[in-house]
Amino acid sequence: MDEHSPEVVTAIQAAVKASELCQKIRKDLVGEEPILKSDRSPVTIADFASQAILCKWIRERFPHDTIVAEEDSKELKRPDHSKILGQVTDYVNAFIPTASSKEVCSWIDFSSNVITDRFWTLDPIDGTKGFLRADQYAIAIALIENGVVTLGLLACPNLYVNIHQPLGEKGCFFIALKGKGSIQMDLKGLGKRNLSVSKIKNPSEATMTESVEPDHADHLFHQRLAKKLNMSKPSFRMDSQAKYGIVARGEVTLYLRVPSPSEPGYKENIWDHAAGSIIAEEAGGKVTDILGHPLDFSCGIKMVKNHGILVSNGILHDVVLKALKM
Ligand code: AMP
Ligand code: MG
Repeated sequence: MDEHSPEVVTAIQAAVKASELCQKIRKDLVGEEPILKSDRSPVTIADFASQAILCKWIRERFPHDTIVAEEDSKELKRPDHSKILGQVTDYVNAFIPTASSKEVCSWIDFSSNVITDRFWTLDPIDGTKGFLRADQYAIAIALIENGVVTLGLLACPNLYVNIHQPLGEKGCFFIALKGKGSIQMDLKGLGKRNLSVSKIKNPSEATMTESVEPDHADHLFHQRLAKKLNMSKPSFRMDSQAKYGIVARGEVTLYLRVPSPSEPGYKENIWDHAAGSIIAEEAGGKVTDILGHPLDFSCGIKMVKNHGILVSNGILHDVVLKALKM
């Protein structure tokens, strides 16, 4: 696969549309009430509309590929959610004018839970809580072949092109292909900048990124670890897989995700890490769980063989793994 391969072109085209859609919904729906799914996680109109567009675009071009995505249309089809389904359909209609509500639900349900030799995994909005706060979120698209992530794309509409220039331009894509490196592009999929992780060797100069939500990671444990490594700079709290992107860009050295004490046995979802992990790795970084095991995307939708996540610039990986054991 190279940048002209149909898979890459398809992923970029799908991400351009989904980013436009999410930005539009974000602008229109200030104070939007999310639906709470059975696991209490919020789903918004944007999650459903984004998934409908991504699934339709990919399925039309790769009819034989399995798609494993976060949402399904069960909640959306409930009679008391008919107004939301109408809104989802209206937003999808801006891109596909003839789409009916029934079709929109059927596109969302192109997603299955079955892992096959070759499949796409999608998070239509990763970091829904960040999206609702007008903070960071990402549209995540990954292709997995025989258990290996071969293509990853993260669209981050609200992320500064350089986090150290908070008055600068916002919105970018991160794209990585196995063995071909990581690049950043704009939200139209244009302009190309090669990415590489930071060269920091001394843990005391390292910086860390972590989730905003205290239920998603053990902030206190992270703080203790940072102290152990003599890291003095405050952590960057950020929602979504944008965290992988800022490690890939070399803006932070580490991304740590130790399960929160509120859910110590939490198993990560494949769509929350597939795209991000290849982007950090292809920029020269290293990605394992907090025990040093490689991420395993082949077991099902849950990464049952992994515990937590550690992303680093590679150089500091073993030092951090050792500190995590103490
Ligand atoms: P982040 O924005 O990095 O905090 O991660 C957002 C993702 O965290 C969501 O897409 C959820 O799938 C996932 N998530 C939900 N509950 C938990 C949990 N208890 N621990 C870790 N991740 C979680
Ligand atoms: Mg997610």
